Amino acid sequence: MGAIVIDGAAMARQILGEQRDAALRLAALGRVPGLAVVLVGDDPASAVYVRAKERACHEAGVRTFDYRLPSTATEAELLQVIDTLNGDPQVHGILVQLPLPAHIGADSVLQRIDPAKDVDGFTWRSLGALLDGHALLAPCTPSGCMLMLERSGVPVAGRHAVVIGRSSIVGKPAALMLLERDATVTICHSRTPDLAAVTREADILVCAAGRPRMIAVDMVKPGAAVIDVGINRMQNGKLCGDVDYDAVRAKAGWITPVPGGVGPMTVAMVIANVITAAGRRAG
Ligand code: NDP
Repeated sequence: MGAIVIDGAAMARQILGEQRDAALRLAALGRVPGLAVVLVGDDPASAVYVRAKERACHEAGVRTFDYRLPSTATEAELLQVIDTLNGDPQVHGILVQLPLPAHIGADSVLQRIDPAKDVDGFTWRSLGALLDGHALLAPCTPSGCMLMLERSGVPVAGRHAVVIGRSSIVGKPAALMLLERDATVTICHSRTPDLAAVTREADILVCAAGRPRMIAVDMVKPGAAVIDVGINRMQNGKLCGDVDYDAVRAKAGWITPVPGGVGPMTVAMVIANVITAAGRRAG
């Protein structure tokens, strides 16, 4: 008996369909949900991510506003764009594609976004609200992970959840969301001495380290739900996650693939946040 494979691509399509219905209802009220996507420079990987988000917007009936700035753009110019978008009533969500060029401070740009339009959930106000248990707009990757658990029927309350990674965009918010759902949560990071001893205790294992196939089969408890957030590009150009998928699949209860797992769910949650933001604006 292998694990149930949680098909993130299929689940994301389903969510986009649901969001499309909500977008149409808003459009009928004269409030077409709108997402502004800001891309600075010509990083090819960023361009691919932006195209995926714009395709998903199109599928869900969300209008997109494209802002492409050259890599020579200054921080002041970018802040000016954010200020304009903050004040534009047709824009309900603002997404600044990371990474930004080194001469621009990502923090000052991200923190300039109006929290009501912060569809990535990266502002301190959004993260603070999450800490206090009433999310404004929740960070997309961890909320995608939570929805995958929920829609797959994975029990969370009272279970031991182990999160590997403590970044502000994935690890920490994932841990908070699991805690909010009454899991007992352990967070691991690069200074955790015996990682395997901790992961073997996990009923739910969320891997967000960015280390290709670091989770070997002997690090996983039989029947565990394994959510692989990692996206690593191998020398042959293919993507792989943080989990040794083929081996772990035989032992886990549930597992997410890479690609086709958390990635498409992250995109779907961006769209869901845009529609939530537009709905709030509509009252
Ligand atoms: P960061 O590099 O910001 O954080 C990585 C975390 O993993 C750090 O907390 C680090 O610990 C920890 N870590 C690294 N190596 C080890 C190790 N050997 N053992 C235990 N912990 C370790 O990355 P992000 O959080 O931004 O992203 C994590 C991964 O998720 C990346 O592969 C990224 O590409 C992917 N990602 C995928 C998304 C998706 O949509 N599927 C969206 C966002 C990210 P320490 O703090 O001690 O350094």
